Amino acid sequence: MILIYSNKFLEHSKSGHPENKNRLIAIKCLLDKYNYTTIEPKDVEDIEEKIKKVHSEAYVELIKNIKSDTMLDPDTYVVKTSYDVAVNAVEASINAAEYAVNKKNSFAFVRPPGHHTCKDRGMGFCIFNNIAIAAEYLISTNKAKKILILDIDCHHGNGTQEIFYDRKDVFYISLHQYPAYPGTGSADETGAGEGKNLTLNIPLHSYTTDDEYIERIKIFRKVAIDYKPDVILVSAGYDTYIDDPLTSMNITIDGFGKFSKYIKETAKIIDVGVAFILEGGYNLKGLSEGVLKTIKA
Ligand SMILES: [Zn+2]
Repeated sequence: MILIYSNKFLEHSKSGHPENKNRLIAIKCLLDKYNYTTIEPKDVEDIEEKIKKVHSEAYVELIKNIKSDTMLDPDTYVVKTSYDVAVNAVEASINAAEYAVNKKNSFAFVRPPGHHTCKDRGMGFCIFNNIAIAAEYLISTNKAKKILILDIDCHHGNGTQEIFYDRKDVFYISLHQYPAYPGTGSADETGAGEGKNLTLNIPLHSYTTDDEYIERIKIFRKVAIDYKPDVILVSAGYDTYIDDPLTSMNITIDGFGKFSKYIKETAKIIDVGVAFILEGGYNLKGLSEGVLKTIKA
């Protein structure tokens, strides 16, 4: 598995906020302990143009022109280095997606996360929608015709859903605690127009266990076989962990190993690569040891 990481991702941080640099420091420490090698993200040509294929011009300019610490909403901070860091996170996600479309599985350890950001609005700790921009990049450069996004973060990826809601070239599946932030993700949100039935929300009750989660994720394999994507991108959140401070689920570290194995085996069945792109996870043990389970799987 190709592991993409950069210390640059530590330069967007706010102490006391759950989405801070210690999350990545914890992951990197564990990777170092087990002698995993990481690579730096590579620049992507015309990156701003690639970002603007998903986000509005006005929104990108807003973030670019932030000169001092501010809040986009009550949850989402931006510091003066955030634009550069968020661009690097997009580049790392695009790199990961490119490896995956060439059948090399990858994991991009990025911050800030992305899946809540809509076309013209950042929210929920997210600035640019890393996974959506990576998917759009593969499609607009003809590297993939169809993409399956699996979102296993504890929260519904409302931004990713919105961006691809009426598209037939991206299938979006999300498993999430429901009801919970951001409030979207009910089972009857199934896509629109050409994208009808290409959004699949799997709401989970509080305190969902590993066994229950495995039962509910099984539909992902059926979707993968029927939809035949060229690549699978995973919004990899670890905030379903039993001791996560922001959620109320009962997923264990071993559970993360089981889901990751299931995802990997599914990709193998349909003969495509998988890119994991980091989203949430706010208990440092659950996050770092969960990530390690994914790599081992
Ligand atoms: Zn989350």
